[in-house]
Amino acid sequence: MSEAPRIVLLPGDGIGPEIVAATRRVLEALGEFEFDGRLMGGCSIDEHGTALTDEVLDACRAADAVLLGAVGGPKWDTTDPEAPRPEQGLLGLRKGMGLYANLRPVRPSPALVAASPLREERIAGTDLLVVRELTGGIYFGDSGRDGDAAHDTCEYSVAEIERIARVGFESARHRAEGSGRAPRVTSVDKANVLETSRLWREVVGRVAPDYPDVELDHLLVDNAAMQLVSRPAEFDVIVTENLFGDILSDESAMLTGSLGMLPSASLGAEGEPGLFEPVHGSAPDVAGQGIANPLATFLSAAMLLRHGLERADDAVRIESAVDAVLERGLRTPDLAAAGESPVGTDEMTAAVLSELAA
Ligand code: NAD
Repeated sequence: MSEAPRIVLLPGDGIGPEIVAATRRVLEALGEFEFDGRLMGGCSIDEHGTALTDEVLDACRAADAVLLGAVGGPKWDTTDPEAPRPEQGLLGLRKGMGLYANLRPVRPSPALVAASPLREERIAGTDLLVVRELTGGIYFGDSGRDGDAAHDTCEYSVAEIERIARVGFESARHRAEGSGRAPRVTSVDKANVLETSRLWREVVGRVAPDYPDVELDHLLVDNAAMQLVSRPAEFDVIVTENLFGDILSDESAMLTGSLGMLPSASLGAEGEPGLFEPVHGSAPDVAGQGIANPLATFLSAAMLLRHGLERADDAVRIESAVDAVLERGLRTPDLAAAGESPVGTDEMTAAVLSELAA
């Protein structure tokens, strides 16, 4: 790694450019970085006729980390199956960068627990991480039509399960460091019905002895979906396959009630760059008005520092600064309750920058 880490910025569409520009300022407040801004998504379709060019993919592969805003918008919505679509850029990045693990932390800021659809006493203390397998399972298996029948095949290999299990155990270990609490992994499957799930459970169990400090339990996916809303604070790390992870990570995201606050990371092989992005989309309805909430992208930059550059201290600085501005009562319109006067993207960014400088 060169002296200044190289970060490819993919602002994308809609509010993407606004929130990524704000995040660049936050990163610059923490040290030296070499930024390389590139087109991906709808903006790349307009310029090059494709959502992701080979040149941009190569730049991403060669970087230390990639920070993405969001892609898509009504301009590129089409029913023409031949027309390029912004999301193809995301899929191309996942595939081209070999990103097989998606990490979504859910930790409602103490100042925002009232925004949760759950009662405050249920959501209070929630701090969980969903680790989803991203490149296997039913989304990538054989599928097709035969007359009036259709099929989708779910397949997993031992190697695919083992590597994502290790991400789960390692993440649990890292999260517990210095906290004094025992790390825990909950592996989610449907082992009472599915053969792939039985293999999943077997392999996760086989990997577990390599992490004797991490407690492991198994939960069936239907039970996990219920437990997430009834006792979310009792989860630590949830590790699960692609389809279950897709659903459970969205369910977990809604626990906070604040879409504009949720970061994510997609990781590939050890030493390869990861992709860091907010969970929300390009919010075309608020784009260009200076009112986008940049906090999920700031928190994605924190994940970039922690998981992509091994700078956990800087990650904590961003997370603490975000908590502090919310504690002070600053809210972008998407977070503001009735009667609260909201601030715009610039004012929110300036407040976080001043916390970082304090
Ligand atoms: P969305 O997340 O963009 O917006 C949902 C609602 O939340 C909107 O009312 C929006 O204004 C609000 N919102 C979301 N993030 C916000 C923020 N940071 N600040 C303020 N308000 C915010 O979801 P959508 O409306 O379903 O999708 C819009 C576009 O984004 C679509 O083209 C969709 O395909 C795309 N999308 C992209 C990604 C991605 O790039 N990873 C993810 C989801 C959706």
